Amino acid sequence: MKNFEYASPRTEAEVLSLLSSQAGHTEILAGGTDLIGLMQAQIVRPERVVNILEVPSLKTIEQLDNGVLAVGAVVTLDVLLDHPYLTPYPALKQAIEGIASMQLQCQGTLGGEVLQRPQCWFFRQGRGLLAGGGKLAAEGDNRFHAIFGNHGAAKFVSNSRLAPALVALNAQVRVIGPGEADEKLMSAEQLYRAPRHEAEREHTLLPNQLVTHLLIPASTGFNATYEVRHGAGPDYPLASAAVSLQIEGGIVQDARIVLGHVAPTPWLSLDAAAELVGKPVTEETAAAAGAAAVVAASPLSNNEYKVQLTKIAVKRAILRAAGLETGGL
Ligand SMILES: Cc1cc2nc3c(=O)[nH]c(=O)nc-3n(C[C@H](O)[C@H](O)[C@H](O)COP(=O)(O)OP(=O)(O)OC[C@H]3O[C@@H](n4cnc5c(N)ncnc54)[C@H](O)[C@@H]3O)c2cc1C
Repeated sequence: MKNFEYASPRTEAEVLSLLSSQAGHTEILAGGTDLIGLMQAQIVRPERVVNILEVPSLKTIEQLDNGVLAVGAVVTLDVLLDHPYLTPYPALKQAIEGIASMQLQCQGTLGGEVLQRPQCWFFRQGRGLLAGGGKLAAEGDNRFHAIFGNHGAAKFVSNSRLAPALVALNAQVRVIGPGEADEKLMSAEQLYRAPRHEAEREHTLLPNQLVTHLLIPASTGFNATYEVRHGAGPDYPLASAAVSLQIEGGIVQDARIVLGHVAPTPWLSLDAAAELVGKPVTEETAAAAGAAAVVAASPLSNNEYKVQLTKIAVKRAILRAAGLETGGL
């Protein structure tokens, strides 16, 4: 690991003052489960590491007057999972439970989970996020790569488990910086992008911006996450779906259906939602939404199997949200 300066500020303003505007010069450290490995492998080589775990304002979980749940970026996943405020959001609870490692749940933070770097093996081997402008993934072993949004150079998948649920729930992200007075709210969807060149990361933050809180609207409907995995134990899903449904009189009035681990960003499927709205949730309508979700899929040479897994994930997430048998685990 390269030598680096270490800072442990106590306020959000101090964090901002320690972050550089130059990409890669400073890195934000939360639980460190992702960042430290990347530093050891010299994939990231910061001059300074800024620990944000000692900033009290980032550790809060609050229900605001309008029912919005505001969760600080350094709240650990185990604390979040057990918190009574999380009860109306099974989509989030199921996603955290999917991280089947108590150590990772206790050490990993909400902010770190949603901003963890891609697991793409070309990236983790130091070949760059886009790995030869997408050539290595296009021509090499791409079995875990994207089946949506992969026409540009980015072919990795976004591997946050919570991001699809946050997008489905219409969550917002509070971002501060670069200036001390700069503060904005963006949708969880806007936090992610498919980078076009190596100077861009897979998120839209500037190097000197900080995520302070995730704001999750009051839940008035039904929501769930369903992940298709290799098996039990710590691993990333092969495909997943998170859904948030408004159901009145037995009919779906509105649906947000988000696919995970199949694109460089969480992938909002308007096709799947359009297929479901106006209908009751049944095995057949859920399956039809699953089929609609993959109509626009563009698998690479080794990952066509993910199309079928995505169909199943969408179908089962819908059934699970509606409290019906999924037919899966
Ligand atoms: C051995 C191992 C196995 C794993 N297995 C699984 C698994 O099976 N399933 C799974 O889903 N996950 C798995 N993970 C990933 C794990 O869930 C994530 O690493 C963890 O959630 C990241 O949280 P953290 O707080 O440790 O993040 P950190 O490592 O501290 O940070 C991750 C990234 O986010 C940035 N960041 C953190 N907080 C902020 C913020 N507030 N604002 C801006 N940027 C920020 C950091 O700079 C860094 O780039 C595994 C990790 C390890 C090390």
